[in-house]
Amino acid sequence: MIYIKTDAEVELLRESNRLVSLTLAEVARHIRPGVTTLKLDSIAETFIRDNGALPAFKGYAGFPATLCTSVNDEVVHGIPSAYELKDGDIISVDCGVILNSYYGDSAYTFAVGEVMPEVMRLMEYTRASLEAGAGQAVAGNRVGDISHAVQSTAERGGFSVVRTLVGHGLGKHLHEGPEVPNFGRRGSGPRLEKNLVICIEPMINMGTKSTRVQSDGWTVRTGDGKPSAHFEYAVAVREGKADLLSTFEFIEEVLKKR
Ligand code: MG
Ligand code: MG
Repeated sequence: MIYIKTDAEVELLRESNRLVSLTLAEVARHIRPGVTTLKLDSIAETFIRDNGALPAFKGYAGFPATLCTSVNDEVVHGIPSAYELKDGDIISVDCGVILNSYYGDSAYTFAVGEVMPEVMRLMEYTRASLEAGAGQAVAGNRVGDISHAVQSTAERGGFSVVRTLVGHGLGKHLHEGPEVPNFGRRGSGPRLEKNLVICIEPMINMGTKSTRVQSDGWTVRTGDGKPSAHFEYAVAVREGKADLLSTFEFIEEVLKKR
């Protein structure tokens, strides 16, 4: 189902998504070689609950944790564990909250210590593809305008776009319509209406676009074991200009101080 929000609902979604952005910044403070992904998960859960919200992913379709922590060739839905991050890893941290009955959902891929230049480039292009897609979240455009902007940016860098998972509408449900693929044709798909709130979340691979699900039933990995990056914004469609409900500013303040 596609639910167009009222202005008041967009403001509630802004609050939920601001809390996700702050939570990701709290996690950013602790990302370094030696930290376990389970420790990051516990930091996020405490922060979310201290701010009067609930971790949205915990228990969602049986997912066992607050964060999805996806390292290196893990694309998304990695389960926090005793794994200790090491120098040269990348980790996508995806976080969801429920605050005042409305969901927040955003993700950021972090470098751990010194990362290979080609992997840094993968992260830069994935981030750039998100920004390009978000720029198309304007009333009167179509979903395909977002999809095309994401895909063309990622492929310009020589990277491939995951097809098996897509972005989504966001509101009182974590996954509402429409689906927001990271690949597609300009001018195709549902029309973007003012106050539609969507999550745009490119998952971009260094090698093959194919993926497989690990035996834990959750973790999605690249088909060839090469790295994957993932960034996600919640965005409200507006007249003339996209309205980003997520921000990476808090994260970047933390990373700058390192
Ligand atoms: Mg997410
Ligand atoms: Mg999402």
